Amino acid sequence: MRKKFIAGNWKMYTTASTAKSLAEGVAKGITDNAVTVAVCPPFPWLSIVADALQGSPVAVGGQNCHYAAEGAYTGDVSPQMLLDAGCKYVIVGHSERRHGLNESDLFLNRKVKAATSAGLSVIFCVGELLAEREGKQTEDVLDYQLASGLTGLSKEAVSKLVIAYEPVWAIGTGKVATPDQAQEAHAFIRKRFAAQFGDAAAHTLVIQYGGSVKPDNARELLKLPDVDGALVGGASLKPDSFLAIVRAAV
Ligand code: PEP
Repeated sequence: MRKKFIAGNWKMYTTASTAKSLAEGVAKGITDNAVTVAVCPPFPWLSIVADALQGSPVAVGGQNCHYAAEGAYTGDVSPQMLLDAGCKYVIVGHSERRHGLNESDLFLNRKVKAATSAGLSVIFCVGELLAEREGKQTEDVLDYQLASGLTGLSKEAVSKLVIAYEPVWAIGTGKVATPDQAQEAHAFIRKRFAAQFGDAAAHTLVIQYGGSVKPDNARELLKLPDVDGALVGGASLKPDSFLAIVRAAV
């Protein structure tokens, strides 16, 4: 049995004070380890949120990182900086960076390697655009994103991976994949992962669904056999809605 994993991506929302109170609100509602839970605040609030979550089972993640350990990379942060700020996780390849900022597969692959070898667990996002789904290219896109983004990973790095299947057309749009669409894509990702890294790694791989997950659709998605959790954007910005999604995973 894979343990369900719910992560909140706060994107570029919250202030210092609302980030702290959101973290406290989430911590209040999570008193056991039945579900793995993490929140990914904006960089400037990482330490504030990590402090607010001291003693709580809720982990902290960064929303991005660079592959370099240090250097002249204005505006970027290294994997070690995230670790020092209290992070356990980092999101890599979110569509708002992959498509929104043209981050290439090679760049993402470097980040995955650097983050895992520094000791972070990586939530690696994959997913197709609407035109690609309509053109029946979903599996080809997932195949390519997994092959290129995860090439050359060590066994140790593979054990630190979580995949988030996030159809781009469902992110922040209120359009959610149907259970059939989600299950089909997740099963494909697991099969593809098995071909790349072996059956044992694929069996334990946690695959989150992301794209307009809300309290009223979470249960139906989270009960699917290959859906092991959710990466939640909008609904992670209020403790009540985020906690309702965590409860739906139990
Ligand atoms: C996300 O940010 O990864 C996401 C899925 O956002 P939303 O839940 O708002 O669609």
